[in-house]
Amino acid sequence: MRHALDRRAERVLPDATLHDARVHAYRDRRDAAGAAEPDFEDLRDHAAATKAWVLDHLDTLLEQFERNAGAAGAVVHWAADAAELREIVTAILGERGVRRVVKSKSMLTEECGLNPHLEARGIEIVDTDLGERIVQLAGEPPSHIILPAIHRSAREIGELFERRMSGPPGETDPTRLTRHARAHMRPVFLGAEAGITGVNFAVASSGSLAICTNEGNADLGTSLPALHIACTGIEKLVGDLDDLAVFLRLLARSGTGQAITTYTSLITGPRPGGELHVVLVDNGRTELLARDAHRASLGCIRCGACLNTCPVYRRAGGHAYGLAVPGPIGIALAPVSGTPGAASLPAASSLCGSCSAVCPVRIDLHDQLYAWRAAARPGPLRRLALRAAATALAHPRLYRLAGRLARALWPLLGRRWPGNPAAPWLVARELPEHPGASFRELHARRSR
Ligand code: SF4
Repeated sequence: MRHALDRRAERVLPDATLHDARVHAYRDRRDAAGAAEPDFEDLRDHAAATKAWVLDHLDTLLEQFERNAGAAGAVVHWAADAAELREIVTAILGERGVRRVVKSKSMLTEECGLNPHLEARGIEIVDTDLGERIVQLAGEPPSHIILPAIHRSAREIGELFERRMSGPPGETDPTRLTRHARAHMRPVFLGAEAGITGVNFAVASSGSLAICTNEGNADLGTSLPALHIACTGIEKLVGDLDDLAVFLRLLARSGTGQAITTYTSLITGPRPGGELHVVLVDNGRTELLARDAHRASLGCIRCGACLNTCPVYRRAGGHAYGLAVPGPIGIALAPVSGTPGAASLPAASSLCGSCSAVCPVRIDLHDQLYAWRAAARPGPLRRLALRAAATALAHPRLYRLAGRLARALWPLLGRRWPGNPAAPWLVARELPEHPGASFRELHARRSR
């Protein structure tokens, strides 16, 4: 049977080979950056141990963060789920009569559906990360957590800018397109009444927020408008600035191969004369925390490395997953997200382990996916098949009969059996040559 991801991939990614090459280039850069950093593997060990400690002490670290952020002048809010995040942000904006908002990249707000919620209430929200702006103008979700428009070619982006951003006709040069977008965005920043950001790390010991971008858009969005709302998952905590330094050295190296993200800002309290609100969001995270087999996935720092190496993601593209966060980490987080169809996604993995091999926090991603598979309740057809197999395996004569039947039907498999449910699987695979007899028969013959 074909997986839903397989069918969606065909629809959304016309040139999978090109996408594969584009994405894999970042895996290559990650490898080169790791090789150039002598401490890279030690940093990964340190990061894995630190995140495990953070998850063990999350309750006290969150309280410490709330105290210290409050002492620095921020207002801390707690959201149990996506709906609460949306309500809190809408209320903060509504009480101040805000109608125009700039937002820097935040996978959490994607996860919680913040943009459409605000737009439906007449609040204009403009994504300011270039990739995010491209997908926003195209009316589609991001397809990658750090490269939101990686599925789009320069020609498509040029046409989009021409249509939606008064861009120059026929422009395909990435540098000139970027300059055009920057000029277009400047007045948007200047006219914004509030800035919404995600958070890369929240530092418990100081109540600070670390926000990393390559474009400086979060810095403009948090320093021009007087109101800053930062939305973060509760798992983004680190203990102190020493821990933060380790993660900052890993984040960009793992994602894009840079030594450090171009703009790495620490925000402690509001800007002079401004307001800072921090929304700490659970949305299924404590449920993951309570699952021993899955809590490690909360250590994710959203670097994107597991997407860049995953053979399924690279060929299918992010939109095929139907999740805010696609790829191996998206699948590992999805079963508690409530997204329709998410429970079947752990099956859409080759379990090759490439994701685990590159993760800077050493999350055992393929083991996580395997554990979700094991926990999934099989559908009625699979249950029936498993019961039949169990019966055959428990009765040797029935097992031998089933074997004979399977060997008789062997030639019919593949494309010669109209309506064969395994046919799509066999399009790209060949069945092995039939041995002509069962193992038991072959063994008996050779023992004579
Ligand atoms: S799971 Fe690991 S590799 Fe994947 S995005 Fe998170 S930190 Fe990066």
